[in-house]
Amino acid sequence: MAVLVLADHDLGRLSPATPRVVHAVAELGPIDVLVLGEGIDEVAAEAAAIAGVRRVRVAQDAGLLGQSAEALAPILADLAEGYTHIVGSAGAVGRDVFPHLAARLDLMPVTDVVAILGPNRFQRPIYAGNAIETVVSNQDKHVLTIRASAFRAAARGNEAAIEPVPHGDVAAVAKFVAAHRTEGDVPDLATAQIVVGGGVSVGSAEGFKLVEQLAAWLGAAVGATRAAVDAGYAPNDWQVGQTGKIIAPDLYIAIGISGALQHLAGIQGAKKIVAINTDAEAPLVKLADVALIGDLFTVVPALIGELDRLGVRR
Ligand SMILES: Cc1cc2nc3c(=O)[nH]c(=O)nc-3n(C[C@H](O)[C@H](O)[C@H](O)COP(=O)(O)OP(=O)(O)OC[C@H]3O[C@@H](n4cnc5c(N)ncnc54)[C@H](O)[C@@H]3O)c2cc1C
Repeated sequence: MAVLVLADHDLGRLSPATPRVVHAVAELGPIDVLVLGEGIDEVAAEAAAIAGVRRVRVAQDAGLLGQSAEALAPILADLAEGYTHIVGSAGAVGRDVFPHLAARLDLMPVTDVVAILGPNRFQRPIYAGNAIETVVSNQDKHVLTIRASAFRAAARGNEAAIEPVPHGDVAAVAKFVAAHRTEGDVPDLATAQIVVGGGVSVGSAEGFKLVEQLAAWLGAAVGATRAAVDAGYAPNDWQVGQTGKIIAPDLYIAIGISGALQHLAGIQGAKKIVAINTDAEAPLVKLADVALIGDLFTVVPALIGELDRLGVRR
């Protein structure tokens, strides 16, 4: 048995999700990490430093810059023969690539895995996270996406070999045209240790700045409810929940968020929750470890003021 992990990377750096995926599959067999892209020498070196990695396989091509399924899946399929498990994180790239790969290999993918019980037994959430399903797959080969936030990161301190892999004519199937991205230096929402989330009750994009201000103070990532995103107060990629990102921070501060089921589906991995809300009966207030009942426009500035007074800044 051997495992091939597709590395996640962005802006020339390895994503924090990849060491978590490596840790998730550590019991399944020797692990190779596949890095696909261009200008990715640093990414390959970071992957080679993850404990438990046997070797890093690298293909560089301008056509791989967009990380499209059309470009990545054929390379993974060509390498599939040597592996019993082909895995990646259940992020934007993995969710696109792995169904394509499974179709090419005529396999059933198991997506969004949160626990690996054995070589062919996997657990995944269903019904918006309200139940956990155990999947037993009788296939010879397994295509998996892993919910990275459900696992710790593998340690660093390895020097795995880095080898090139041959690949077909990527330009014939995919051409990278442009990437339009949200600029910012806040931590990645899916793997952040602290997330500050804002709801529609902030009232405006200007009001949402209060949420961003507290997040900046704490070195936290910023999340939002779908209602806040739909109202145009926060960008789409900040949405947390069933149809947004899944987060598992040590601390989630929910500001003016009611706690609809679809939002709760995204925060089940949060270890501690602080809710700031005017309504003591709101579902998220009842779920929270600490609830601050009051107007967010009073409570949040007071919180920032107190952090300032105490000299707490990350
Ligand atoms: C198919 C589907 C998928 C969905 N996916 C998602 C998803 O992925 N993520 C998601 O978040 N939602 C999702 N939703 C929407 C979800 O059902 C809720 O509508 C949404 O989460 C509510 O957002 P909210 O908490 O900002 O707003 P509300 O539910 O309106 O809650 C606002 C809260 O703010 C409080 N409040 C009001 N004023 C103040 C104040 N001044 N100070 C402090 N507190 C105040 C209120 O007491 C209330 O609790 C989905 C819905 C559907 C149907």
